[in-house]
Amino acid sequence: MHAFLDIETGGVASAEPESARNVRDAAGVYLHLTGVLPEAANIDGDASFDRHILASILSLASIEGGNLAAQTGLTEADLGDLLSHYFAARRIEPSGDGVENHVDADEIEIVRDLLLANRSSEGDCGRWLAGMIARRAMEPNHLWEDLGLRERSELTRLIARHFAPLARRNDKNMRWKRFIYRMMCENDGFVMCSTPVCTNCADYELCYGVETGSSRVAPVAQPSAATTGTDSVSSFEQSYVEFSTIA
Ligand code: SF4
Repeated sequence: MHAFLDIETGGVASAEPESARNVRDAAGVYLHLTGVLPEAANIDGDASFDRHILASILSLASIEGGNLAAQTGLTEADLGDLLSHYFAARRIEPSGDGVENHVDADEIEIVRDLLLANRSSEGDCGRWLAGMIARRAMEPNHLWEDLGLRERSELTRLIARHFAPLARRNDKNMRWKRFIYRMMCENDGFVMCSTPVCTNCADYELCYGVETGSSRVAPVAQPSAATTGTDSVSSFEQSYVEFSTIA
C-alpha cells in the first residue's frame, strides 16, 4: 500500500500564478532551444509536436534550478542524447534558486513504469517522455502546467500519441494526473479512491473538474513582435537570457 505524496494539490487549480519573470525566463529558454517563442510554435506535424513538448518541459525545469536531468526525470546520458537529437546539442544552464522539491523516487518509478507499459510510439522519445511526465507529475500544479505546455489539449494529444492505451481508457476525460494515479491504484495498491463509484465520491470535482490554469512557459501577454522574424527573436533573446552552445 502506498499513499500519494500530494495528489490533492495535483488535482486542484494551480497552486499560485507563475511570476511573469519566470514565464519570460522559461520562454527565453524555449526560444534558445527552438528559435521561436513558445506561443509561435507550429505543432502541426508529429515531429514538430514532439519537439515542442520536449522544449516546453526542459524550459520550465531549467528555471527551477537544481539538476536539470533530475528535474526532468532523465539520466544525464538521456538528457545529452535528447539535446543532441532535437536541439542541435544546445546546452541549458539551469537558473532559479536551486531548491529542489522533495520527490519520491519510488513513486516516480511507478508512474514511469505505468507509462512505459502503455507506450504506443517507437523510439526514444516516448521512453524519455515517460520519465519526464513521471517526474513532472510530482510537482503541485495541473500536469499540463508542470510540463510547461500551453494548454491542456497538448497533454491530451501527447498521451494519445505516445501512450494511446491510456488515452483510450480515459474516456470520461478525467484530469490527467488523477487518471494516471487511478491506474496506479488498480495496478500497484495506491490509494486514491474513497468509494468504488465516481458518482458517489466526494472527490468528484478533483477528478473531473475543468483543468483551467495558465502556461508556465508561454506568456499570456505576448510581445508585439513575438512571432515575426529573426529580428524580434534576437531582441527577445537579448532581453531575457544568454546561453552558451556546444560547438
Ligand atoms: S472514486 Fe472516482 S471521483 Fe472518487 S477519487 Fe476515485 S476516480 Fe476520483
